[in-house]
Amino acid sequence: MHKTTEISVEQNLFEANNEIASKNAELLRKNNIYSIDFLGSIGSGKTLLIEKILDKLNEKGKKSAAIAGDVAGDDDYKRFKEHDVQATSLNTGKECHLDAHLISHALEDLDLKEIDVLFIENIGNLVCPMDFPLGTDKRVVVVSVTEGDDMVRKHPMIFGLADVIVINKIDLAEIMEVDTKRIISDAKAVNPHTKICLTDAKHGEGIEEFISVLDIQA
Ligand code: MG
Repeated sequence: MHKTTEISVEQNLFEANNEIASKNAELLRKNNIYSIDFLGSIGSGKTLLIEKILDKLNEKGKKSAAIAGDVAGDDDYKRFKEHDVQATSLNTGKECHLDAHLISHALEDLDLKEIDVLFIENIGNLVCPMDFPLGTDKRVVVVSVTEGDDMVRKHPMIFGLADVIVINKIDLAEIMEVDTKRIISDAKAVNPHTKICLTDAKHGEGIEEFISVLDIQA
């Protein structure tokens, strides 16, 4: 009995989230905004990757915006603002993921008519955000070689749902004695249709290729 109740509460929570996610998607589509949810562990390099893309899109004359999701603080929000884009931040406190409801409020803080591409940086972990789609066009999962070469095997479900998997900090693979090929083959095993990008965001390597894989339609 107890278990049935638990499952149905969880089910309702997911359904409610999915409903709001559909509304977010509709709002974004109506405003011709291409949107991407970035997932990945703390320290995988999500913020810097987004920052590098913001600069490239600025050069191309695209108008970007970024939503910085963090448990606490506004450090990433401040970093995004440095790139001359609209930005807002979401603090989740004890929650380990963003949800569609939070995003619907964040969208109220942005001038949607002035956005071509929206980046959402989710809370840093490879478990909680999985069940809460936000209504974005794409979900990107970032993994850094500094996390070891077993992350995909340990978190097959989140890598399984990624439209694009980014293997970041590849410049450190040798020094960390991590086999990048192993990460790639694990990623292909859990998600045969995903696109895989190799980046060294710190030195700007692989960013153009990543942007073209994202296939930004805006
Ligand atoms: Mg960050």
